[in-house]
Amino acid sequence: MKVFQDFPLQDHNTFKMKVSCRKFIELERPEEIVTLAEQQDLAQPYYILGGGSNVLFTHDYEGTILHPVFQGIETMEEDAQSVTLRVAAGTEWEDLIDHCLEHQYYGLENLTGIPGLVGSAPVQNIGAYGVEVKDCILAVEGYLLPTAEPFRYEAAACQFGYRSSIFKKELSGKCFISHVWFRLSKEPHYTLTYKALTEELAHQQLEPSLENIVRCVRAVRDSKLPNIDEIGCAGSFFQNPVVPEAQATALKSQIPDLVSYPAVNGVKLAAGQLIDKAGWKGYRKDDAGIYPKQALVVVNYGNATPEEIHQLYETVISDVYNKFQITLQPEVNIL
Ligand SMILES: Cc1cc2nc3c(=O)[nH]c(=O)nc-3n(C[C@H](O)[C@H](O)[C@H](O)COP(=O)(O)OP(=O)(O)OC[C@H]3O[C@@H](n4cnc5c(N)ncnc54)[C@H](O)[C@@H]3O)c2cc1C
Repeated sequence: MKVFQDFPLQDHNTFKMKVSCRKFIELERPEEIVTLAEQQDLAQPYYILGGGSNVLFTHDYEGTILHPVFQGIETMEEDAQSVTLRVAAGTEWEDLIDHCLEHQYYGLENLTGIPGLVGSAPVQNIGAYGVEVKDCILAVEGYLLPTAEPFRYEAAACQFGYRSSIFKKELSGKCFISHVWFRLSKEPHYTLTYKALTEELAHQQLEPSLENIVRCVRAVRDSKLPNIDEIGCAGSFFQNPVVPEAQATALKSQIPDLVSYPAVNGVKLAAGQLIDKAGWKGYRKDDAGIYPKQALVVVNYGNATPEEIHQLYETVISDVYNKFQITLQPEVNIL
C-alpha cells in the first residue's frame, strides 16, 4: 500500500473541490485492509473513495481516505449462454464495459459512460436508460469494517433499490467492497425501454447490437451531461422523488406536462423537470450553477467553493419545496 499525508483531493473528486485529507491510502491488494484493521488504523475516522464521482466534499476531511487501486477481471464460470465475472473494486467501470464489448457479453451496455470504479457500482445500484446494475450482479464480496471480517453477499441480500443498497444504508461506512461478481448473458438481449436511447438508434439509423447501443448511450450522455474533464459535477445531484399518486395528479394542475413513471410506493417524478419548472435550469452565480442541458446536475465551472455549491443546492431544494411541496433529496454523498 502507499500512504500519503495531508493529501490534496482535487483530482480525486469529479466536483473538483479543492479540499484535502489528513491521510490517503492507496490499497494495492484487497488483503491490505486486514493489515490496516490489525494496526488499529480503522479505529480512526476513515472514508472509502473510488473515483470520487458521487461525492461532494464540503470541507477538508480530517481522517483517512482508503482508495482501492487493485484491478482485474476474472472469468469464474462460463457456458454457452452466460459468463460469471469477478471484478476487482479498483477496476474502472468503463474498462468493464470495454471488456464486455470485446467478448460480446450482454447486460451492462446501457450503463456505458458512468464514471467511477467497479467497487462503487453496487453502493448506489447505478442505473441508466432502463437498466440497474443489480440486474447483472450475482454477489458482492469484501470485508466488514472495522474488524476486516470477510463477507460475501448474494444479490438478494444486498437490498438493492432505486439508487440504494445495503451498502448505502446499514452498511454505509462499515464495509469495504473488494470484488463484484457479475452474471452476464452471451446471448443478445437488450433493454430498449428508454425513449432517448431508441430515438438515438433511430436517428443514427442503427439496428440494436452491443456496439450500437454503447455508441448511442455515449452519444445521448455526451449531449446531456457535462464533460467532467472540463466542468466539475457529480452527475445527477438529486434523486427522482417518489410521491403518492394523488399528489402527482394534483401537481398536474401546476405542471400539465408533468413527467411521471409508475414506482413501487407511488409515482416517480423527474427531479430535473421540477428544478427546470422552478426556473433554475442554466442558473449560474460565480462558478456554481445548474447545468443548462440537464437541470439535475449541479456544476462547478472552475473555482466554486464547497460553501457556494452547498448554498446553491439548499436554495434549489427549498425553492422546489415552496413551489411544488416536494422535498428533493441529494443522490450525491455529502461529506
Ligand atoms: C458526469 C456523471 C454522470 C453520472 N451518471 C450516472 C448515471 O447515469 N447513473 C448513476 O447511477 N450514477 C451516475 N453518476 C454517479 C457516479 O458516477 C456513480 O455513482 C459511480 O458508481 C460512483 O463511482 P465512484 O468510484 O466515483 O464512487 P465514489 O464517488 O468514490 O463513491 C461513491 C460511494 O461509494 C462508496 N464506495 C466507493 N468504493 C467503495 C468500496 N470499494 N467499498 C465500499 N464502499 C465504497 C463511497 O464511500 C461512497 O459512499 C454520474 C456521475 C457523473 C460525474
